[in-house]
Amino acid sequence: MAATERAEAHLNEIAPGIHELSLPIPWEEGAVNCFLFGGDGFVDLLDCGIQTDASVAAVLAAIDEAGGPGTRLRRLVITHIHPDHFGAAGFLKERTGAELYMHRLEVPMVNPRYLELEQLVAEVGQHLRQNGVPEPEVSALQNASRAMREFVRPGEPDVQLDGAETIELGGRRLRVEWTPGHSPGHICLFDLEDHLLFAGDQLLPDISTNIALHPQSTPNPLGEFLESLDRLLALRPRLIMPAHGRPFEDGAGRVARLKQHHQRRLDQIEAALRGQELTAWEVAIRIWGERREIWDKRMALQEGLAHLQLLAVQQRVEKLADGSGVRWRG
Ligand SMILES: [Zn+2]
Repeated sequence: MAATERAEAHLNEIAPGIHELSLPIPWEEGAVNCFLFGGDGFVDLLDCGIQTDASVAAVLAAIDEAGGPGTRLRRLVITHIHPDHFGAAGFLKERTGAELYMHRLEVPMVNPRYLELEQLVAEVGQHLRQNGVPEPEVSALQNASRAMREFVRPGEPDVQLDGAETIELGGRRLRVEWTPGHSPGHICLFDLEDHLLFAGDQLLPDISTNIALHPQSTPNPLGEFLESLDRLLALRPRLIMPAHGRPFEDGAGRVARLKQHHQRRLDQIEAALRGQELTAWEVAIRIWGERREIWDKRMALQEGLAHLQLLAVQQRVEKLADGSGVRWRG
């Protein structure tokens, strides 16, 4: 990045000392929300956007704008390692010396996903074949997320979290809530004084969080996602700050709608399997139809698998696995 480059930060003070920074991304509504917590001569940051010159320039400008010129970045906390949340972490750490915090279940996913892709690409290929994806489609689907690495410069964590820690950002005390599902080590932060919930991708106002079963996911991501929503509601958040979309108050109403959405999908898949034995690929085509875009096809398969797995855990369908692959029976 050229030193002369000037960036405009789009800062919005959402609570005393807390600024929301909207950064551009090429997907998911076109923007991700990061949060700056102002302290005395420093700021702390929750999530950091993708690694592009424009995005990191906006983050650096926002740090100066929130804290005044010469303000240092002290702590960078990451909700999960997807590119829009974690992409610039390595650059910012090198540039500012900030301490990087993330959940420990995210840490082992970084290298295979962004640095040494070949083994993960091979595992994804095997997973696709086991789930009935026809050979001509495997190679395209298996390579669908290669381009994501362009947007990520990984950083080594200084603090690995388990969940349930109290951490201090900009003088506020925040509790780490581990909310697996969207990603194995996804975390939310809950402001213990003001009852603000920084929800990452776990609870979004306008879109339903992508929940996918794949080689890097936990074994029952949809079950874990739904349980995590209940734990968040039990905190009784006053205001929810999502990573995509505007802050909102009615957490209970939003959670009820999300649960209804997944319940309907579970019922629909259970009905599609009744009296049949199908692969997840065949189920995905019945539910979502033939998709043209590679990305949509893989999403349909992996979302379908997340629902099938929960149905099997709940004993509503049977999951049959052997050396030739996995089939589902109604
Ligand atoms: Zn995400």
